[in-house]
Amino acid sequence: MNVFQLRSVEEPRCLSLGHGLTTLGQTIGNTFVLNNASISGHHCEIEIADQEVRVRDLQSTNGTFINDLPITEAILSPGQILQLGSLQFQLECTEVTIAVPSLSQPVREEKGPLLLANGALACSIFPNLPATVACDHCKKPYHLSALRIIRLASAKRKKPLFFCPACNGQCHALFEIDDPRGSFLSELPKKIVSGIRHLFR
Ligand SMILES: [Zn+2]
Repeated sequence: MNVFQLRSVEEPRCLSLGHGLTTLGQTIGNTFVLNNASISGHHCEIEIADQEVRVRDLQSTNGTFINDLPITEAILSPGQILQLGSLQFQLECTEVTIAVPSLSQPVREEKGPLLLANGALACSIFPNLPATVACDHCKKPYHLSALRIIRLASAKRKKPLFFCPACNGQCHALFEIDDPRGSFLSELPKKIVSGIRHLFR
């Protein structure tokens, strides 16, 4: 996208041209009011469309010029000098890049279970960790570290209770911890496995 501006040749002044119609003249109500005796009340209008800057003289007394040539309507190109009466402006063009988020990376679906590289079900809170428990209520899979763990002081057995961080439902192991049949526990470090076994005993 291009942004156009008229830089005054004589003085440190810059007129930013918005998209659509810009009017210049001495009368209040113009987009840019130019207080100069050589400028007519409604001197000229500038229209930006399709990345082109089109200038129309509005029957001004002292005329509108592009690079010293009088015009009634003409395209003003970047670098050219627009003269209104005795005032001169050079058209500048700045290319503005609007950052658009890339759509190449798909947004991760919240629905459906995530899988780890080894095919194991992933925790819905920590997608890098394997899910070892699931909520009885909302059925979401979790790694133990994602759960709220409550240890009942009065419990005869030192078995803590696990609660779902999403719905507070109680969570239970996804599989029989002591079942040796090809569960992915065999692929986890022994320390973690023994920790999990301990918690569910
Ligand atoms: Zn839940």
